Amino acid sequence: MLNIVLFGAPGAGKGTQAARLVGKYGLGHISTGEVIRDEIARSTPMGVSMEGYIARGELAPDELVIDMVADYIARRKNPVGNIFDGFPRTVRQAEEFDKLMQRHSTPVDFMLSLEVPEDVLAERLLLRGRDSGRADDSDEQVIRNRIRIYHEVTEVVARYYDAQNKYVAVDGTGTVGEIEARICAVVDKYL
Ligand code: ADP
Repeated sequence: MLNIVLFGAPGAGKGTQAARLVGKYGLGHISTGEVIRDEIARSTPMGVSMEGYIARGELAPDELVIDMVADYIARRKNPVGNIFDGFPRTVRQAEEFDKLMQRHSTPVDFMLSLEVPEDVLAERLLLRGRDSGRADDSDEQVIRNRIRIYHEVTEVVARYYDAQNKYVAVDGTGTVGEIEARICAVVDKYL
């Protein structure tokens, strides 16, 4: 069983590469961002409570996303393993996640970090906003806020995994296929 944390700034390509990995290896997948967008689209009480955070480009509260992931772990037991996409995004989430995975005896194997230069990120997000209609990708101010928060509270999560010798950096520039090949080379080593 392989549990991978897929990490990177907004626009680094986590969602795209997660879909490729799911297709290739049959891993389970949870994107906390997708779960939140789905809750908002269905106007559930949780979705309604998250709307403001997303619109401003802020992070959702730790408790809510931790519960989301705990729920996923409890319900979806994929024997191959799982990709955690966009989670954990704070040190607090990472600590709670470790405890959760220890309770299930399924520790995180490694964090795979997609490294992409800042100018490329902003460009990709604006392009995605035009194509997908994601509101948080269409407003330059919101995008800037997300990238700022990434640097302020999320980037240090990489050090958390590095301290456990579980941090693997991958060049996130180039074509989708080139990036996928780099990621698969890492995953194949662990399988
Ligand atoms: P991106 O990585 O491009 O920002 P995501 O789909 O991963 O896209 O996330 C979209 C939004 O959902 C984030 O800007 C944030 O507001 C919220 N979100 C997603 N994951 C988390 C998380 N682990 N903790 C807090 N907020 C989250």
